[in-house]
Amino acid sequence: MKKFLITTAIDYPSGKPHLGHAYEKICTDVIARYKRMAGFDVHFSTGTDEHGMKIQRCAEKKHKDPQQYVDEMSGHFRELCEVLNISYDDFIRTTDPKHIRTAQQIFRDIYEKGEIYKGTYEGLYCVDCETYYTEKDLKDGKCPVHGTVPETVSEESYFFQMGKYREKLLGHIRKHKEYIQPDAKRHEIENRLNDPLKDLSVSRTSFDWGVPVPIDEKHVQYVWMDALINYLSTIGWPSDEAKEYWKSAVHIIGKDIVWHHTVIWGSILMAAGIPLPKTVYVHGFVNIKGEKMSKSGGTVVNPVELAVKYGADPMRYFLVSEIPFGSDGDFSLESLFTRNNDELLNNLGNLVNRILTFISSKNASKVTKPGKYDEADRAMEKSIKRYPAVVAKLLDSFNLQAALDNVMKLAKEGNEYFQQKEPWKRDYDNCLYIGANLLRSLAIMLSPFIPESAEKIWKYLNLPGSVHKQKWDSAAEFGVRPHHVIGTPEPLFKRLSV
Ligand SMILES: [Zn+2]
Repeated sequence: MKKFLITTAIDYPSGKPHLGHAYEKICTDVIARYKRMAGFDVHFSTGTDEHGMKIQRCAEKKHKDPQQYVDEMSGHFRELCEVLNISYDDFIRTTDPKHIRTAQQIFRDIYEKGEIYKGTYEGLYCVDCETYYTEKDLKDGKCPVHGTVPETVSEESYFFQMGKYREKLLGHIRKHKEYIQPDAKRHEIENRLNDPLKDLSVSRTSFDWGVPVPIDEKHVQYVWMDALINYLSTIGWPSDEAKEYWKSAVHIIGKDIVWHHTVIWGSILMAAGIPLPKTVYVHGFVNIKGEKMSKSGGTVVNPVELAVKYGADPMRYFLVSEIPFGSDGDFSLESLFTRNNDELLNNLGNLVNRILTFISSKNASKVTKPGKYDEADRAMEKSIKRYPAVVAKLLDSFNLQAALDNVMKLAKEGNEYFQQKEPWKRDYDNCLYIGANLLRSLAIMLSPFIPESAEKIWKYLNLPGSVHKQKWDSAAEFGVRPHHVIGTPEPLFKRLSV
């Protein structure tokens, strides 16, 4: 079976998860679930990035041992995955022994190739970003991400000769357009690479909460030199299986860490003699009324509470349908409710309910045997056979929003078909047969997006096994046979209001 690796960024657990974390996990989960149905052996990893000065300071403030602190904080991110039905295969933590081994191995490999040397680092360091900035990068002397004044730090440090990879990186980026997506992000990185590229400080002595540098125990690995390597440790690098997964690697990340994932990670991999990931796909921020969500801004929405209160599926549906993948978008409760009520409840829920209720009440729960098709029947059948390939193509190109939109379009067509056929007035054999198969097809195509509801439709149809185990292409088939007895339908969605 062909292997496919997809990863979220690993989250820095210096605070609880916010909606941006939820968004990234949901979008990545949609792709992972789709790829499994498309016949891939998927490894989907997410996790937490647990080292660095900031974690050490957060733990100290709470009078906790850093390990105890990250154990606790990492739990919040795992909980987020549970409540949102994130189907990860591995929750990787950078404090896991398997990760520490890989991180040290990569450092040692690069060192032994002569790509790392010892020097002194002095620079402007933002503790929140765990990143050194040049004067030019700062906005009014402050960190461009956090708006805080960076500290001047001077320390003995090991340096990775990143500078010499500038042209090689540019060449790769230009030759492999799929390496950085969407295109606008690729152009940004290309532009930045027109300037000279500096060597990268890859070790610290000013704190000790990190992976020890394998060649010098006084140092710990710079947090990015540690964290990025999680993408290899999660698949058990350098096993043969890991190498198969790596060929298809896709990293889903936020727009604030594109440089780290394309230039820093790209050059580390080049130095280690490892191929670059196939694609780094960059998504936007989830804003609340146009403001970037941040703890300091006070606009934090707790995604765990939201999912528990309103359900994982309405949250998943809202975030994918509302925000074009790759751009910024807005969150508000009002728009969550509107999409739930208008689209999930009134379109999809209504369709499922009317078809299944009709089969139960008018035909003793038995799917009808179709007769001669009329024009409306033929059109509906054609759509059921056509949409799965259309949606698959959109998902393969990371166009999650349009993919979901198309599935919902099919549901809308179904409602129109039912309305036009008026089965309560005349012969309903074709309508119920096609209707049941339409629901089957919708359940399969919805399962990556709203897994719980898709599984319910599957159960109401009384089909064997789980919808999540179905082959994607089978959504184009008519798998519900005449005389099949359906289950007992229940309302799929609730009306949401304040
Ligand atoms: Zn910062």
